[in-house]
Amino acid sequence: MKYIIGNWKSNQNITESLIWLDELSALRPSFSSSVSVILCLPFTDIASFNHKIADLGLPIISGSQNVSHLPPGKHTGEITANMLAELVNYCLVGHSERRHEFGETSEIVALKARYLLENSITPIVCLDTPYLDEQVKELFHHDVDVSRCFFVYEPISAIGTGKPVEPTDANHVCTQIAFLTDNSAPVLYGGSVSSDNAASFVRQGRIDGVLVGTDSLEPTLFAGIITSLS
Ligand code: PEP
Repeated sequence: MKYIIGNWKSNQNITESLIWLDELSALRPSFSSSVSVILCLPFTDIASFNHKIADLGLPIISGSQNVSHLPPGKHTGEITANMLAELVNYCLVGHSERRHEFGETSEIVALKARYLLENSITPIVCLDTPYLDEQVKELFHHDVDVSRCFFVYEPISAIGTGKPVEPTDANHVCTQIAFLTDNSAPVLYGGSVSSDNAASFVRQGRIDGVLVGTDSLEPTLFAGIITSLS
């Protein structure tokens, strides 16, 4: 199985997300049973998005972009894994934007992954080389079952810059991530992926799919990526 994961970041309100779905549906991208399409949305969009994908019969699975590192309780404003369990099957954790803008540490990311797994949500753990070893150690230290996670190599130099790394270099780091996680989980690449280059990553031996930020926002571009991997 190959994976395409979209990350809308802090874009699209409910209305815009539903228009996006109508537009994507009208483009009729060639979905394949061997390519799973997951879209990580703002919390506010998820419920209506789920209804609409069911109505349209689109093979898209929703995910969230964040979750609390705390259990249910007195934590005003937090969205816990228990709340998300009724809405999503996947959740991003450890995106470099959250590390840089919100000071998230590898320990916090591990706690999030643990609560997600306890609620049967697959953590999609984003990694870059400076903290790759540290993050994987924290996951093991917090008894996170890495075989139930997804991992994404997301070099910061490639995120949102239009400058992806060479597919062979990405494959090298993905192989390292696979080794550190007992070759038990999917490992993806993310960073300036487009319909022009997506297949060149997935053709490498150890890259199981792509995480797409910028080009997931535009239905035409996202449809192009779906079609290019099908
Ligand atoms: C991302 O932020 O996860 C990402 C991959 O972004 P982009 O595709 O814009 O590089």
